[in-house]
Amino acid sequence: MRSTPRALARPSIVALKPYTSARDEFSGTARIFLDANENSLGSPLNEAFNRYPDPYQRELKAKISEMESIAEERVFVGNGSDEVIDLLFRVFCEPGKDKCLICPPTYGMYEVSAEINGAEVLRVPLTKDFDLDPQAIRNVADESTKLLFFCSPNNPTGNLLDRDKLISIARSVNAMVVVDEAYIHFSKAGSIVGFLDANPNLVVLRTYSKAWGLAGLRVGTAFADPETVALLNKVKPPYNVSDAAQRLLLGALENEDRVLEMTGEIISLREALTEDLESIPPVQKVYRSDANFVLVRVSDPVAIYEYLVDRGIVVRDRSRVRLCEGCLRITVGTRDQNDALLRELRSYGENVG
Ligand SMILES: *Cc1c(COP(=O)(O)O)cnc(C)c1O
Repeated sequence: MRSTPRALARPSIVALKPYTSARDEFSGTARIFLDANENSLGSPLNEAFNRYPDPYQRELKAKISEMESIAEERVFVGNGSDEVIDLLFRVFCEPGKDKCLICPPTYGMYEVSAEINGAEVLRVPLTKDFDLDPQAIRNVADESTKLLFFCSPNNPTGNLLDRDKLISIARSVNAMVVVDEAYIHFSKAGSIVGFLDANPNLVVLRTYSKAWGLAGLRVGTAFADPETVALLNKVKPPYNVSDAAQRLLLGALENEDRVLEMTGEIISLREALTEDLESIPPVQKVYRSDANFVLVRVSDPVAIYEYLVDRGIVVRDRSRVRLCEGCLRITVGTRDQNDALLRELRSYGENVG
């Protein structure tokens, strides 16, 4: 039987009496606020930021809930999804005792957050074609394994993970299953959020940093069981999302059409870039991507990386990552940026490679 999120959480967090901020103790409307030691005179800006923000981002959550068709009590908002990853460790992994499981090659923050929070990392590598091995995952996860991380579409490989396999894993492990959908907007496949109701141990991570083009604002979300959201709320810093970020994101959410337009354009540029890269000599293989980057195997990754840097183009060298040997990860740029990249790669092929 699967435990509830509360039963999987650290007992000390379940028992924790959280800090109550001024805005927790009084959140109604009042004529005069003299409760939070703010500067009552204002801010040295045209727009006023002298008041602490809503600690639970209610207006934002109402809007996100409506846009994603997910109940508000299932929405958690973090200072980037990186904050949510850290909070999940703090809620579910007793330092020095509990473990997490990842399927490398994958996003590096899961492991870094685990280290910071004193959680051992179990690794079940993806198969050669970057797919999941559910049986191996079930065999490796033991009773102190509290968090399983999956990234779909996966960073740095770019492929979607099989949704049926993810759901079968969520159904069969007694642990929280985190599916990071940072790049889902660039994929034709559907999200796994529709399976939240039936799987209380499921957590879906999203971010406004990629398709939404708001990496500098630092806003990410988790969609999860209300119990999980309540636990995350207990542990988060009271004012984890700034008023500037909340207001600017609320404005951006009114402009979803522009995001859909940009996403469509990025997908077209990705397909064109994939095709063009395949025809260039130093390129050996371009992996199919469902994200806004492509993983590319080249003849001499380190030399090509340096060659590009010398010409003002920075890509990500992933060649020392297991299963990504020989690979560079290249973010899809504008048409001009992609053309410049292709030009330099061609000249490398002609002059050096
Ligand atoms: C970029 C990225 C994130 C980071 O998101 P933030 O909301 O900017 O913290 C999370 N997960 C994956 C897989 C990413 O590639």
